[in-house]
Amino acid sequence: MFCYQCEQTAGGTGCTVGGVCGKNPDIQSLQDILLFGLKGIAAYAYHARELGARNEEVDAFMHEALFKTVTNVSFDIDQYIAEVLKCGEMNLKIMETLDKAHTDRFGNPIPTEVDTGTRKGPGIIVTGHDLLDLYELLKQTEGTGVNVYTHSEMLPAHAYPGLKKFKHLVGNYGGAWQEQKKEFSQFGGAILATTNCVLIPPQNTYLDRLFTVGITGVPGSQHIEKRDFSALIKRAKSLPPLSEATGKKIMTGFHHTAVLGIADKIIGLVKSGKIKHFFLIGGCDGAKPGRNYYTELAERVPKDSVILTLACGKYRFNKLDFGAIDGIPRLIDIGQCNNAYSAIQIAVALAGAFKCSVNELPLSMVLSWFEQKAVAILLTLLSLGVKGIRVGPTPPAFITPNVFKVLQDKFDLKLITTPEKDLADILKK
Ligand code: SF4
Repeated sequence: MFCYQCEQTAGGTGCTVGGVCGKNPDIQSLQDILLFGLKGIAAYAYHARELGARNEEVDAFMHEALFKTVTNVSFDIDQYIAEVLKCGEMNLKIMETLDKAHTDRFGNPIPTEVDTGTRKGPGIIVTGHDLLDLYELLKQTEGTGVNVYTHSEMLPAHAYPGLKKFKHLVGNYGGAWQEQKKEFSQFGGAILATTNCVLIPPQNTYLDRLFTVGITGVPGSQHIEKRDFSALIKRAKSLPPLSEATGKKIMTGFHHTAVLGIADKIIGLVKSGKIKHFFLIGGCDGAKPGRNYYTELAERVPKDSVILTLACGKYRFNKLDFGAIDGIPRLIDIGQCNNAYSAIQIAVALAGAFKCSVNELPLSMVLSWFEQKAVAILLTLLSLGVKGIRVGPTPPAFITPNVFKVLQDKFDLKLITTPEKDLADILKK
């Protein structure tokens, strides 16, 4: 067997441990989970650091945990399980650091209605997750006549006072990342990619309008240094103006500070039986089949339920009309994936109000995973002892059946089945 860690044949001449690591797929699996979780933490730590915030404890953990993935460093499965849970704990800390950095810089989000159409005139669409890039672009485009649109995970930006104050931040265009080739072709303006999830190869229909900044890079596109967006603005002005198109209005910005501001009302509705259940349906979207599950689930949840959502998985259903329960919207968009921190604050506050644990709340979490940040968030929820989470649409290939079984036994982690079956199971409790 080939050991991909030391890149030798396990037990071969270069192997110092008789092939133990190469023959232990569970250790490899746990090391992979750790690596994926660390990548997620790194993304949040990067954003926080760009905003001038860092967390020494998280930095130290990253060194320790990365070291823990070195070949032949430990063969103790329990130690690795503890380490992946610690990874979740550290991810919570870095999401908190990032949340504070965002709110210190841009203020606490205010629930905001966002237009999904286009305005007449030149435009730039911004994809990715980096609010600081967007802020700098908004400053540099102010008064130029260029409108700025958010794409996908940038949607929650519209709710931050420090960003929404810019009148030329006019709307959110398109859906989740996997649609971007089609959407960027259709969007006539210039495009700025700030982070993942940017797709390659870009189509020729928009390559000459595509710019990257910071961590991103796409061959053939222009990379912007030091957030000097003048070339991007010039390009936007050189393109034919976008036409006026009416779009549906969607809501975003239900940061925990906003939700906790109406907590008394929500608690009253739960006590009076008008709200019977909360669903957290969110996570990363993806292109593979099976993700209609999340749309169908959101459509099928009983009318006396409230859906909390976050990350780009919400584009599966956030343009549907869910209505409201006595003025409380039935679909509450908490924000980007890093705003899982807010979702946790909301759950903890509800548990406090009802004097129970998060696991005893009428709250069910059904998550979609795709990339590394979603793995880090799942580890966070597990590290908090949250049980009964459903994940899908498929099990991560790097989790071996043994490791999945440990997670099932310890945390009642489940894979999604069908919306009908899962709903019946959730609601019978
Ligand atoms: S939520 Fe996940 S899949 Fe969606 S854009 Fe963000 S990182 Fe990518």
